[in-house]
Amino acid sequence: MDWKAIADRILEGGKITETEAVAVLESSDDELLDVLQAAYRIRKKYFGNTVSLHLLRNVKSGKCPEDCAFCSQSTSAINDVERYDFQTVESIVEGAQAAADRNAKRYCVVSSTRAPNPREVETICEAAIQIKQKYPDLEICSSLGFLTEEKAIKLKTSGVDRFNHNLETSENYFSEVVTSHEFSDRVNTAKIVKKVGLDLCCGGLFGMGESMLDRVELAVALADLDVDSVPVNFLDPRPGTEFHGKPNPLTPNDCLRALAMVRFVIPHTEVRIAGGRETTLRSLQPLALYPANSMFTAGYLTTGGQDYETDKRMIEDAGFEIEISGAKEPALA
Ligand code: SF4
Repeated sequence: MDWKAIADRILEGGKITETEAVAVLESSDDELLDVLQAAYRIRKKYFGNTVSLHLLRNVKSGKCPEDCAFCSQSTSAINDVERYDFQTVESIVEGAQAAADRNAKRYCVVSSTRAPNPREVETICEAAIQIKQKYPDLEICSSLGFLTEEKAIKLKTSGVDRFNHNLETSENYFSEVVTSHEFSDRVNTAKIVKKVGLDLCCGGLFGMGESMLDRVELAVALADLDVDSVPVNFLDPRPGTEFHGKPNPLTPNDCLRALAMVRFVIPHTEVRIAGGRETTLRSLQPLALYPANSMFTAGYLTTGGQDYETDKRMIEDAGFEIEISGAKEPALA
């Protein structure tokens, strides 16, 4: 496959075909640097050498009634993950300081739930108003499950910039991962997010047993939704979940190929290396910055991760630079 020619075509406004996208995922290790080079040319056109950092906060942990087989916060997962109710406005606002201290462009507040109740929406709205007063340049993303248009408008008018709602996998494979709701339910919320003018953060999880075609179909579904940001997670099978003990089929090189495929299919969109980065990419994490232009730092919802200082050094050592939000001078040196 002529990866350079495919990149040339995409840079000129053309598209990668489904067959070519599958070929990216099936390419040999010998071809990997050529694939990454082609993806990097596209990433560079839209994002230069910048990396935007995102900091997560789990504002409600555990007790989720949904049955996503990978998720340690589902009630169907048997584990000792910390469980707590929706946090207060004060604690959510306090958490924004940690994002500002780490040069994060976005502060991502996430709740384990099927859908937020009115009081939870009010809490996020009030927190967003206060965060915007304190850190006007810090962008706020919330992830609260299914939305109605009314709730989405409330979030938007309170200053929330972006809403996350992942498709997780292809429509074809979805029932192997979730049975308590449908793929179309997720698409519906994603469409509401776009309709009210919130940025849509919408991605998925690779390594759950899906085929290469499923991975490509997920990326195409995301492109069809005109997503603004794509978090790419890699399965890190958590204790107590249905997927725990499943052999993880992803090698570090497979993760790099997956990120490159997403970049080819959705060229102009923010692609974020998300959960599972440290455990699946391992020593190859810096190479993921060639297709991706964004990452979470300092851990995830229920698992720790590489600390900010190590991430910062990795980004700079690889020749990239952190996109400064302007939220405040970093407190961490
Ligand atoms: S809806 Fe979200 S929090 Fe709930 S089980 Fe699924 S992934 Fe986990």
